[in-house]
Amino acid sequence: LLRIEGVWKNYHDQSVLRGIDLDVAAHEVVTLIGASGSGKSTLLRCVNLLETIDDGAIHLDGDEITDVRADVDEVRKRIGMVFQSYNLFPHMTVLENITLAPRKVHKVAQAQAEEQARELLSRFGLADKAGEYPDRLSGGQQQRVAVIRAIATQPRLLLLDEVTSALDPILVTEVLSIIRELKDTGMTMILATHEMSFARDISDTVCFLDGGVLLERGAPDQMFSSPEHPRTREFLQRVL
Ligand code: ATP
Ligand code: MG
Repeated sequence: LLRIEGVWKNYHDQSVLRGIDLDVAAHEVVTLIGASGSGKSTLLRCVNLLETIDDGAIHLDGDEITDVRADVDEVRKRIGMVFQSYNLFPHMTVLENITLAPRKVHKVAQAQAEEQARELLSRFGLADKAGEYPDRLSGGQQQRVAVIRAIATQPRLLLLDEVTSALDPILVTEVLSIIRELKDTGMTMILATHEMSFARDISDTVCFLDGGVLLERGAPDQMFSSPEHPRTREFLQRVL
């Protein structure tokens, strides 16, 4: 579904991504782990075309989305992204937040967009919040709305960047359970996280980034119990 090939990203004279190669299959959940500054967010931002890459290519469903002639808006229609800070529009209700992109970008009729939004809200236990403004919701509820907003357009791929790190531990669980449910529905996801137990639990593949290099990847059990690379071992010893 997604192919990242030899991707380099430089800021000024610093290379933040150094030749990243990564394939993501349909329905696969890939987790990016690694120290702060290792390039996890930058990689997600490159996939979503929020950054331009300096070398390499990214293909989505066979299309080279990093081609200079690619239509950025069209590509972003196929990719959902959720950030650490929920970025809900404060002056819009929950329902308006969720229906905005389906209506404006995907030209779904208002009634249909609202029906889909209400369906998603009730599926994720937020049916009674449709008419609320974001500041009346808890952090965990806001982040769940942000996830719902990202999937309301039925993206091919969902990118999640540290979606729980701004939350109290007790709220983290609610957000993680919605991500787990998305996995069960077959959503293809790449997530950057510092929650190692969650990474172990949800991932099909765990990738360890170190200084912009994808140093090691593998199934979660193998990565967490017997990592091959000394740098991976060192990192896991520090965080586990
Ligand atoms: P964290 O775990 O703290 O979120 P990360 O793995 O997501 O870290 P990135 O945010 O991808 O790391 O940053 C990788 C490197 O790129 C860092 O050294 C950072 O300082 C640098 N960087 C990121 N964005 C920019 C930018 N807009 N301009 C210059 N340097 C940047
Ligand atoms: Mg980051």
